Amino acid sequence: MRELAYLGPRRVAWRQVPEPTLSGALEALVRPVIAARCDGDNLPIFNRVTTAMRAGVALHYLDPVTTDLLGAYPYRAPFAIGHECIAQVVDCGDEVRAVKPGQLVIVPWAISCGGCRNCSDGLTSRCTRAGATLLNAYGFGKSMGAWGGAVSDLLRVPYADAMLVPVPATIDPMQLASASDNMPDAWRAVAPALARYPESAVLIVGGAARSIGLYAAGMAVALGALRVDYLDHHPERLAIAERLGARPIQSQPGARWLQRHAPRTHGDYRVCVDASSSAAGVRYALRSLDAGGVCTAVGFYFANRTGLPLMQMYANSSTLQVGVSHARAAIPQVIELVAAGAFDPLAVATVIADWDDAPQAFTTPATKVIVRRSEFGAMRVPETRAGAAHSR
Ligand SMILES: [Zn+2]
Ligand SMILES: [Zn+2]
Repeated sequence: MRELAYLGPRRVAWRQVPEPTLSGALEALVRPVIAARCDGDNLPIFNRVTTAMRAGVALHYLDPVTTDLLGAYPYRAPFAIGHECIAQVVDCGDEVRAVKPGQLVIVPWAISCGGCRNCSDGLTSRCTRAGATLLNAYGFGKSMGAWGGAVSDLLRVPYADAMLVPVPATIDPMQLASASDNMPDAWRAVAPALARYPESAVLIVGGAARSIGLYAAGMAVALGALRVDYLDHHPERLAIAERLGARPIQSQPGARWLQRHAPRTHGDYRVCVDASSSAAGVRYALRSLDAGGVCTAVGFYFANRTGLPLMQMYANSSTLQVGVSHARAAIPQVIELVAAGAFDPLAVATVIADWDDAPQAFTTPATKVIVRRSEFGAMRVPETRAGAAHSR
């Protein structure tokens, strides 16, 4: 079968690999039909990371957990890339009850059993039965288990009933293209905090987590935030944020601007999100919090030293939530929000390309990339965006 493989910076290509097969009664084989590029995929696609990260760990500049997460050779090519997809169930083991062949399902990025203590507590990306590595997921190669990637002809799902979430017939599956990871990541960054502080002002510090910041902005608007401010230096993302109902605030690239413009004592937001994936962004978000406020940091923060303003957090009774997204636990709420029609996730998708063009699409420096098989071509695709992969 064919799968999309990461070969190095800006090098992604199709390759032939053996098909996975069913090996247990709880498993399913699924055929991905719509896939999206996770914001995290941009790190190895657009940067030379393997050598730099190895050196960073050796020199104690990066946190040693980096090796546990990504292996001794982070993002070492080649590996099957991609971990966001909608798929069609092809075959099921004897004990699979919740899904059946032909059904369209969301495949969460991380493997989870649904029954261990972590899964029961909603920490599905840290399932203790998923495998031997710290995280066990699609699209990261051996460092997270050999599960293959989402842009492929076939995926093996070890706990089909626990993992797979059917796409409701009333929702265009294209809207849920990123429901495997980035959308539930955005949801957890705003929804619980807005439930605690309804109708409060929300600040999103946008940046490297390109789509997560925008999904978070759109979701916060849909969840009834008093006001959603979206800070970024990138014109396209600012325009998308505005279309989603947020107030765009122009910044400048780099840590210095964030350092200079952060409030000295505190701001007036009860809910802040760092999607810039930078320590400077987290500091800015924390300093923008009002008393009792909650900041969720959704990015990667590899550096050993992050300079968090702990005394200010003490004075303001701030909460900082950092961590990997437990996507499976939040997917049902994401579906509910999209079904309500209060925000359009496709407003974030700047490139929608044909499945065969995935190598070009995945190496396009766009905000959000979605690829879809041709039989899904009849679905609603914004006119201006169809085929955009060829023009950018
Ligand atoms: Zn991801
Ligand atoms: Zn589990």
